[in-house]
Formats: sequence, structure tokens, C-alpha cells
Amino acid sequence: MHAARQQQYLQALGIELWVARAPPAGAPATAPPPADTAAAWEGLRREVAACTRCALHATRTQGVLGVGPRRCDWLVVGEAPGAEEDRRGEPFVGPAGQLLDAMLRAIGLDRTSNVYIANVLKSRPPHNRDPRPEEVAACMPYLLRQVALLQPKIMLAVGRIAAQNLLGTEAPLSRLRGQVHRFGEFNVPLVVTYHPAYLLRTPQDKRKAWEDLKFARGLYQRLTGGGDGHGT
Ligand code: SF4
Repeated sequence: MHAARQQQYLQALGIELWVARAPPAGAPATAPPPADTAAAWEGLRREVAACTRCALHATRTQGVLGVGPRRCDWLVVGEAPGAEEDRRGEPFVGPAGQLLDAMLRAIGLDRTSNVYIANVLKSRPPHNRDPRPEEVAACMPYLLRQVALLQPKIMLAVGRIAAQNLLGTEAPLSRLRGQVHRFGEFNVPLVVTYHPAYLLRTPQDKRKAWEDLKFARGLYQRLTGGGDGHGT
């Protein structure tokens, strides 16, 4: 990443400059997904668009499956679509989304090339209330199918609600940060950080979020022998 641009992203985050490592020689090139993977994604998109598995279908504008490449090493998971996401059909597109993008770019990730972004719930809860357990249970199979298709090497849970639902715990976010968890039967390494909407309200915690991102990036590099985030 261009150093000046990276500095801009970091300034948006309110954190200090860091030096990016060059990708390792011989890093794998991005390969197109097989045709059956494309069909599976299309099937998933259609199912979510028509889903009535929980009561949220009655109040949403549209289901929001996720955004990003069909196969990549990084999967970011938030809580649920908000008002803007519900309108536009894409996760994290309001001010919180812009901050998330800046956070991700600071570690070399971009939703158009090497990170997939999704939510635990695909439909917006009215007035952005917390997801109910039965809604999470009804919707989780979609996320599991996304994980199976993406085959991520690392997951980043943003916010308490996403972290607690992905890990099946009621532990506070402060206890979940700074360690490597494992997601479900896929056993995907998972790191927890703050939700960008929280960081907009509590900018003094941006520095802790930056620590989480560096922790996740370091873990990814250890997992991949120094990869730069571009998937296979
Ligand atoms: S939240 Fe999930 S399970 Fe509920 S209607 Fe939306 S897509 Fe279906």
C-alpha cells in the first residue's frame, strides 16, 4: 500500500503510523473460484433475499448477505444491518462502515479485493435493537455456509453482540479481546475487536482497536507464513 495513503487511513483512525511489510516473494496469486462456488453463492443470495425463517423478514427492506470476494482469507462479521445497510443491501455502508473500511485498509484489507464483510443477522432488527436468540439461531446457517464457501484463514468479530453470538459466550468484550478464539466446527481462528459504531461514539478506544487489528494481522502472518491478506 502507498505510504501516504496508509497514513491517511491511519489519520482517519486517529492512530500512529506503522510500517507495512512487503508481501513475501512467491505469494499465491488470486485465482477465480470454481463455477460451482459461483452457483452456491447465487443460491445463498436468493435464499436470503426470500428468507422468512424469522420475524425480521416482515420489517426489513431487504436481506443483506454480505460483500467481498467469493473466496478470501479474511472474514469480518458484525451484528446486523442498520438503516442504511437495509436500504442499500450492503453491510457497513454508513459512517461506521467508512470507519471500518479505514480500519481494514490500515492493515492492507479492502472489501473489493481481499476481505469479506458480513453480519450475524442478514435482516435489520427494528430500531436497531439487539438480535434475539431465536433470530440468531434461524440466521446462523447462512453464515456457516458463507464460511464454508469463503474458507477464511482468520475471522474478525466486530462488537460485543457479534463476538458473543459467534463464540457462544456472555463474556464482556474486554475479556474477549487480545486472544485467539476458534469459530465453530470450522475451527477458524477468530479475533475480537470493537464495533466501529462504538468507536465513533468513543474515539478514545480507537487506539485499543488498532492494537486488536495489529494482533489480528500478526496472527494472520503467522498462520500464512507472512501473507499480505490476499486470498487464494
Ligand atoms: S434475519 Fe436471517 S433468518 Fe431472519 S429473515 Fe433475515 S435472513 Fe432470514
